[in-house]
Amino acid sequence: MKFHLLTIFPEFFHGPMDHGVVARAAQRELIEIKVHNLRDWTYDFHKTVDDRPFGGGEGMVMKPQPLFEAVEAILPGRDPARQRVALMSAHGPLFGQRKARELAGFEEVLLICGRYEGVDERVGMHLADEEISIGDYVLSGGELAAAVVVDAVARLLPGVLGNQDSSLQESFSEDEDGQDGILDCPHYTRPADFRGLRVPDVLLAGNHAEIRKWRRQAAIEKTRRLRPDLLDR
Ligand code: SAH
Repeated sequence: MKFHLLTIFPEFFHGPMDHGVVARAAQRELIEIKVHNLRDWTYDFHKTVDDRPFGGGEGMVMKPQPLFEAVEAILPGRDPARQRVALMSAHGPLFGQRKARELAGFEEVLLICGRYEGVDERVGMHLADEEISIGDYVLSGGELAAAVVVDAVARLLPGVLGNQDSSLQESFSEDEDGQDGILDCPHYTRPADFRGLRVPDVLLAGNHAEIRKWRRQAAIEKTRRLRPDLLDR
């Protein structure tokens, strides 16, 4: 799967994409991450990507022209069944595991990273297929949000995680009814007694049926304690 990141700060992605699961997936060519400098689609001396807001007010707004031309050049003759364009935006529906699974079904995903006061509204309305927010807070740019999306989507792709089943058993994985899941069960490692804090006996006894039962129950209890909203849906 190919990710395109459209940004005015291409160097931003050196680092976040260079570690662990995502970096290994790229090395093994299971994913490809292409970072595009939005300023390549400007024609003036200063490579201007922003302009003053119509109607007045604070801050600058990202112009539609470089963004439209960039997306059209990166995905010419776009096929909506295979390619998806999303605008990172505090206004979008909240990103979650369900959306990550949906995006994992595309061959190419292009994420537009906004800056300044935001992006000309015509980009969200007429260029992007959707807007995606990673939470109800305002970031200074879409790059961090895009990195979150790439990470969450990449690890769902076949072969990316060492253990094929890992992404089936973790937090928010879909249950049999296709519902968004609950939290992952608690995990423990050695020592069995750390400063008097003991690992539950059932995990030490080696009875796998009992362990499965305990994990399910512990996951429900943990969800009730930390994220009761997940159980009330
Ligand atoms: N004026 C806007 C905020 C702009 S922040 C407002 O009040 O809603 C600049 C850019 O950061 C946005 O264009 C978007 O690309 C990105 N951004 C900010 N918050 C985000 C969030 N919660 N999720 C995804 N992207 C976000």
